[in-house]
Amino acid sequence: MASVELRGVSKSFHTIDVIRDVDLRIEDGEFVVFVGPSGCGKSTLLRMVAGLIPVTRGEVAIDGEAVTDVPASARGVAFVFQSYALYPHMNVERNIGFALETAGQRKEAIRAKVKEVARLLKVDHLLGRRPRELSGGQRQRVAIGRALVRKPEVFLFDEPLSNLDTDLRAEMRVEIARLHKELGTTMIYVTHDQVEAMTLADRIVVLNAGRIEQVGSPSELYHAPASRFVAGFIGSPR
Ligand code: ADP
Ligand code: MG
Repeated sequence: MASVELRGVSKSFHTIDVIRDVDLRIEDGEFVVFVGPSGCGKSTLLRMVAGLIPVTRGEVAIDGEAVTDVPASARGVAFVFQSYALYPHMNVERNIGFALETAGQRKEAIRAKVKEVARLLKVDHLLGRRPRELSGGQRQRVAIGRALVRKPEVFLFDEPLSNLDTDLRAEMRVEIARLHKELGTTMIYVTHDQVEAMTLADRIVVLNAGRIEQVGSPSELYHAPASRFVAGFIGSPR
């Protein structure tokens, strides 16, 4: 696991400032949730941490080192998206192990690692199935497994549960909390679901139009929201 630091990070698309001068330090092993209305820049911020898009100004540091020139594949981060993006023609075992296959690891080693990850995510009985033979929740477990098998230093989630119905969402929320407890990996998690934010986060970062509005523990934000905007998002009485 690793710390993640954002120093004066800004992003413009054409002439529009989407992220404005964000400073934030995320500690080793911390679970940080980004919340805010649609279009406020949550995904953009996460993508800059991942290295999927470059910053316009400022710097991202992972484990204390600036990663400006480090490509996504070498940052030690794994990304889980809202859409599962599993390979439809591969079974669960190959979907989970694919990153190790392309890295040239030996078959036996891959099989052992996939088994371990599949057991952790409770999909070890589904290894022979294709994605279309899985439920939405099972698919998302496989997607998480595919990220996990690379043993990332930092886990990035972008609204991973928004495609699931209410019951599955609650189940997967518990699963992600358990994963964080067992692995201790640093996690940054984007959601617009207040319940997810309040139950998963060590700290919540509230974003508003590309700026940080407030950072704090769920209880701090609930009991002492800095603005009406934060109160509205967190559901506190102010
Ligand atoms: P969120 O994830 O909080 O809903 P995004 O980070 O996706 O917000 O988007 C923030 C803003 O940046 C939005 O106004 C969006 O339209 C804009 N944006 C995102 N990606 C691009 C892009 N590749 N080109 C131009 N504008 C973009
Ligand atoms: Mg988004």
